[in-house]
Amino acid sequence: MYRTTTCGELRLSDAGRTVTLAGWVQRSRKMGGMTFIDLRDRYGITQLVFNEETDADLCHKANKLGREYVIQVTGEVNERYAKNSNMPTGDIEIVVRELNVLNASDVPPFTIEDNTDGGDDLRMKYRYLDLRRNPVRANLELRHKFCLAVRHFLDSKGFLEIETPVLVGSTPEGARDFIVPSRMNQGQFYALPQSPQTLKQLLMVAGMDRYFQIVKCFRDEDLRADRQPEFTQIDCEMSFVEQDDIIRVFEEMTKYLFREVRGVDLGETPFLRLPWSEAMRRFGSDKPDMRFGMEFVELMDVLKGTGSFAVFNDAAYIGGICATGCAHYTRKMLDELTNFVKSPQIGAKGLVYARVEADGHVKSSVDKFYTPEVLNAMKEAMGAQPGDLILIISGDDAMRARKQLCELRLEMGSRLGLRDKNKFALLWVVDFPMFEWSDEEQRLMAMHHPFTSPKPSDIAKLDTDPASVLADAYDMVCNGVEVGGGSIRIHDAVLQAKIFEVLGFTPERAKEQFGFLMNAFKYGAPPHGGLAYGLDRFVSLFAGLDSIRDCIAFPKNNSGRDVMLDAPSVVDQKQLDELGICLAPKE
Ligand code: ASP
Repeated sequence: MYRTTTCGELRLSDAGRTVTLAGWVQRSRKMGGMTFIDLRDRYGITQLVFNEETDADLCHKANKLGREYVIQVTGEVNERYAKNSNMPTGDIEIVVRELNVLNASDVPPFTIEDNTDGGDDLRMKYRYLDLRRNPVRANLELRHKFCLAVRHFLDSKGFLEIETPVLVGSTPEGARDFIVPSRMNQGQFYALPQSPQTLKQLLMVAGMDRYFQIVKCFRDEDLRADRQPEFTQIDCEMSFVEQDDIIRVFEEMTKYLFREVRGVDLGETPFLRLPWSEAMRRFGSDKPDMRFGMEFVELMDVLKGTGSFAVFNDAAYIGGICATGCAHYTRKMLDELTNFVKSPQIGAKGLVYARVEADGHVKSSVDKFYTPEVLNAMKEAMGAQPGDLILIISGDDAMRARKQLCELRLEMGSRLGLRDKNKFALLWVVDFPMFEWSDEEQRLMAMHHPFTSPKPSDIAKLDTDPASVLADAYDMVCNGVEVGGGSIRIHDAVLQAKIFEVLGFTPERAKEQFGFLMNAFKYGAPPHGGLAYGLDRFVSLFAGLDSIRDCIAFPKNNSGRDVMLDAPSVVDQKQLDELGICLAPKE
């Protein structure tokens, strides 16, 4: 038997017991004739002691152990002289009688401690060592608990977990597909699913009624901090439901997860539901961070055409936020904010600011263009008080200017400490537009996906004014992060064909790519709808992480590489020949 006990479980009440433990040497300290070793496993750390006076050979052997050696020890549990109240096992130590080296270790490339000296690249290359560290391991434990709770809840509501294939056909809408060449069908390719969207809809046609799956999805997109080329969804679909039914079930699930996994009671009240257009107007975002206010105030009426500032006079949008108590911001801090909004990622042309002084006077960067009356009217519109700072952004594209102001609002929220990771503000954003214009493609694209149902009252506008059609789509947002999203689906072949037409598909192409779905709709498709949560994002929110990477065991880096496995990599010529693939010479 390798062990009788783990490294996390012994307490003072175990004193006197003889135990066997196995684990990794976290570190060792030599103090006079005594050697102390911290032995670590997944469950904790236990202190081992070796005494030169009682067993010199054994102590000598212990002194030769390096970090991360795997050892097995047998000894007696002893009450510690110097107790450590920071450790659950801090009241005891093991007086070792027998030591067995199970495996030696090279010196690890970084310290396996909570605060490691390892940089990102090194930690990713040796991810199996990084995973030995408490914080990373704790994230995986949290993820496990989260998945268990999801399964428990959905099972209790009658959902069936059904697996769908990973080798599927390419769907051109949405992101770029990862494709896999077929050896048996040369010249043809599978695609990895961007989500099991059409398959779960087919499961509804098949009468499964309630489906879910914790499932890997693949999207070949450029990576950002919160994106991975493969990620996990909690994918769900229900039959005979309207938007309200879905929102009810998943609001209950979310509250359950917060309570069971995060220990946070979100209360009984339903989440706020914010129409998309209102979210954009008030926060410039379809995923507003509602942990704090600082809502947008539109200033077109007050500032456009009321002074000689050409930038505002030409603007399609002028909006401001009021940073309470920030009138003391120095020139340097304001320059910083200006540079922030002018950075290439945000792209604003500039930032106008106005301080409300103690006596109520406004002092702004555009004083020379406006009368004090206009500036005062602006202060009133903003609801600003003495001591406040007003920050204003304008632009000739209203949507873009709102998004820039949104970034500024978030930045100010962070600077003012209003984005507390232990506070959770959940809401649904509803009534999304059905389509959005793509400059790149020069056509309308589905904002959610092409299987989303337009609001029944808007169907008539599909021919006359498709851009104004709203969808039966909803996103769940928490702290400025879209944690989930879904829609009521089209279940009628004729309406589905119409949507493909608006999206610019010829009937032939629509049939070629989505014929299987439209065909299925001819055989009694029930009304249905669903949603998918981003599991990685949800877990990282619970863990308070900035990036989803640290709740994924083996993530990819920012260039989509697995640096540990060194993937992607070249393959043998033989493999290419079998697939009938000939690589173009490198440019
Ligand atoms: N399949 C959708 C997505 O991946 C979610 C849904 O509509 O259920 O975004």
